[in-house]
Amino acid sequence: MLDLASLAELLGQPQKIVITTHHKPDGDAMGSSLGLYNYLIQLGHHAKVIAPTDYPDFLAWLPGNEEVIIYTEHTEEAAALIADAAIIFCLDFNHLSRINQMGELVGASNAVKVMIDHHLEPQDFDDYRYWDIKACATAQLVYTFIVNELGRKDLIDKDVATCLYAGILTDSASFRLPNTTSDVHRIAAELIDCGAVNWRIHELIYNSASENRLRFLGHCLANRLEILPEYNTALISVSKADLDKFGVNTGDTEGIVNYALSMASIKLAAFIVERTDMVKLSLRSKDEFPANEICKKYFNGGGHRNAAGGQSNESLDATVAKFKTILPEYKKLLIQ
Ligand code: 5GP
Ligand code: MN
Repeated sequence: MLDLASLAELLGQPQKIVITTHHKPDGDAMGSSLGLYNYLIQLGHHAKVIAPTDYPDFLAWLPGNEEVIIYTEHTEEAAALIADAAIIFCLDFNHLSRINQMGELVGASNAVKVMIDHHLEPQDFDDYRYWDIKACATAQLVYTFIVNELGRKDLIDKDVATCLYAGILTDSASFRLPNTTSDVHRIAAELIDCGAVNWRIHELIYNSASENRLRFLGHCLANRLEILPEYNTALISVSKADLDKFGVNTGDTEGIVNYALSMASIKLAAFIVERTDMVKLSLRSKDEFPANEICKKYFNGGGHRNAAGGQSNESLDATVAKFKTILPEYKKLLIQ
């Protein structure tokens, strides 16, 4: 393991740096990565953000987005950058499996690997770790890393602040989740003072849906929502045919699970979607209910207590059936 002084010394000279984040990046993944990117380029580093896969259009306005390399679309260029990097920042994930095929390249690289993350149970692949599961977002940790560890609040400019604000906003579900502490609000206030235009960022992220997305949401709620009152659970399952019929794009399914959770009686909500290569589950829960335990135990996944995900190689119907058979095990917690 590297200590902070050695890392700070390394960062004192321009370096070849790769910043990467988990596949199907969300607002925190891209916000934290581009926040760090916009910080590092001010210091003269040759930094590149490499996303393992594509990500939603509602993040495409983030400052620096045009410089992001998507691994699945520019594999050779990305692999060369990883092989050549002196430092690789791993943001918003802590298992190499979360970056798909890139995991092998990052694992094999001789670069100094810096993990900045807030997920449970990190894998041991890093050389320096800035990790706190109490943080509401990795973007919050990038802020405190720059300000408290590296002492460079002066470099939190408008672009850095905008990206970090977007990460905190999305991962805290608009400052609603229990980990939205007063510190989080203080950091958000600092970011606004540094140039983040909070209302505009909300607008760009939340009021930018396509007609397809809205009609697909209507379809999910009207035709695909199932309530299991004896378990205070709601589930929405959608097939590949549903996705095709509504022309659903990356990101269009995001957040739909929260509608299922918004009913007063519901303690656990699931969104189960048939993708081309697998069936993907998104679980959300209220209070103490451990959604991540279900994902880890039964669906080869994980995440946070109240927001977790996983996958299955079985059919959509079989996955939905499996999910239902698990609920009796959790009945006591669900009907509390
Ligand atoms: P989402 O439901 O939005 O895809 O994911 C919610 C959270 O669950 C993510 O922030 C991530 O922490 C976690 N998550 C989602 N899918 C997976 C997965 O396949 N494996 C693991 N370990 N965590 C996941
Ligand atoms: Mn996150």
